[in-house]
Amino acid sequence: MRQRQMLLSTLREAPAEAEAASHRLLLRGGYVRQTAAGIYSFLPLGFRVLRKLERIIREEMQAAGFDELLMPAMQPSELWEQSGRHTEYGPELIRLQDRHQRGVVLGPTHEEVVTSLAAAEVSSYRQLPLRLYQIQTKFRDERRPRHGLLRGREFLMKDAYSFDTDWQGLDENYQAVVRAYHRIFERCGLRFRAVEAEAGAIGGEGETLEFMALADIGEDTVVTCPSCDYAANLEKAVFLQEERGSGDGDSVSEPEEVHTPGIKTIGELSAFLGERTETCLKTMIYTADGQPIAVVVRGDHEVNEFKLKNELGADRLELADLETVERVTGAPHGFAGPKGLHIPIYLDSAAAAAAVKGSTAGANRKDYHVRHLVPGRDFQAERIGDYRNAQTGDRCSRCGEELVFSRGIEVGHVFKLGTKYSKALGATFTNKDGQEDWMIMGCYGIGVSRLISAAAEQHGGESGIVWPLSLAPFQVHVIPVSAKDAAQTELGTALYEKLRSSGIDVLLDDRDERPGVKFKDADLIGAPLRIVVGKAAAEGLVEWQNRRDGDEKELIAAEEAALRV
Ligand code: ATP
Ligand code: MG
Ligand code: MG
Ligand code: MG
Repeated sequence: MRQRQMLLSTLREAPAEAEAASHRLLLRGGYVRQTAAGIYSFLPLGFRVLRKLERIIREEMQAAGFDELLMPAMQPSELWEQSGRHTEYGPELIRLQDRHQRGVVLGPTHEEVVTSLAAAEVSSYRQLPLRLYQIQTKFRDERRPRHGLLRGREFLMKDAYSFDTDWQGLDENYQAVVRAYHRIFERCGLRFRAVEAEAGAIGGEGETLEFMALADIGEDTVVTCPSCDYAANLEKAVFLQEERGSGDGDSVSEPEEVHTPGIKTIGELSAFLGERTETCLKTMIYTADGQPIAVVVRGDHEVNEFKLKNELGADRLELADLETVERVTGAPHGFAGPKGLHIPIYLDSAAAAAAVKGSTAGANRKDYHVRHLVPGRDFQAERIGDYRNAQTGDRCSRCGEELVFSRGIEVGHVFKLGTKYSKALGATFTNKDGQEDWMIMGCYGIGVSRLISAAAEQHGGESGIVWPLSLAPFQVHVIPVSAKDAAQTELGTALYEKLRSSGIDVLLDDRDERPGVKFKDADLIGAPLRIVVGKAAAEGLVEWQNRRDGDEKELIAAEEAALRV
């Protein structure tokens, strides 16, 4: 590519609101432009990086046995009602109506569509396993879109899905994707860790790993052990429980009692529980005669607020209305708590017990009991233990070594879904014995656009990004210092043509600009290999620089430079 023909949109300064280094550099280099909050255009330079990344992902997913398809971004609401996620998903789901007042959503993910496809297309065990992936735009109305491509409202995801006849098949596919992800992120030159994670909102029955690119700007905390291979995100991390000495305030035998007479509304209860449960994963609520009626677990406050408003048409519920709530929604349902706590309440003890089981993640999780003294009115809280996350000084529960904490950006997520979606959407097949069975599913995501920011975060410096060769928009930048010097122009152009014809992505700075401007732009464009054609051009010499190795420059023959590339 000749630079004069390119849309070159480098900026001397980034807009002040761009906090993250990657965001600033992607704006300054002219890779992306914001169209609206969390919504970006990829300029040609950024699009090149995107294409390179997609290619790596496609190669590795194909190698893992997955076939590419493309599913619609616009999806009928009915599908989401079938899975229960039309309300479950909360306000991140963008809901629209078409001209016939039929509901549609803009897909934040594709479990519903892909499962309904599998249900329709697959009938026999002979057609399984089925492995599909796509690279598609996703829509999530994030509360706080930020840091450029790191958290967008419209973003690119690679999502993959596997359908198996049994759990062993799922495990094989899951492991194959885990291996593929390691290769993808290694090829992208990313520093990353695969960490154990919590199942969370997507549901499903089991194992899940998050792939975290290590970077200080990351929103997640990664807990790793320096001596064994233990790695988990903060929510999941377990640590070595020391023997409880006396006086540390959380012994089970001496519960702290907190009386809260006068709580009359769910709002008040929610506020109370919010404060009390800050150190707890879950809170049990009992009737005066000791029957568990509810369990309150930590989660996403926004989603429940949304459910309340949409499903129940209420912002606040009177405690007296609990029965109505149960009648309208059935358990589980929820209400909003303060401080971002999601407080689903399960109104019967069976659902409560199930939820308790499902939410006991680590050994460090403890319960908090609230006794319901006067029905509908007063509560008594009883702390039977602290819940806390792992923290500095805690030791690995496997080997006793001190745990290390760092920040991470979730760039990938693999998940054993099991039968949650196959059951909801009727994805069955006839097994070897002629019986109907549920397909066993896994789902696997990579934040494609987010990964570009994560890489920029790791490979960015003061003056620009030095891309790894695999992602660089151009691998080589040929820069004749003076456009007025015939020898420089000639040698630079010859080198450019030679590299181009051998399939290298090369950029030629053929502009008539001052050297300072050319070099500043070159830093921002970020090609890892730079060939400067200056005064020595008359002797056929050029200045060679591999920017991945540092600032060192070397004067070599032009032919030698072409060979090195
Ligand atoms: P997060 O915890 O960051 O909100 P998530 O767990 O909601 O992400 P998943 O549902 O696991 O995301 O989606 C798969 C992948 O899509 C994530 O691992 C992440 O890399 C990417 N992703 C999710 N949300 C966004 C977003 N708003 N902008 C860019 N990429 C995203
Ligand atoms: Mg999210
Ligand atoms: Mg996440
Ligand atoms: Mg995730």
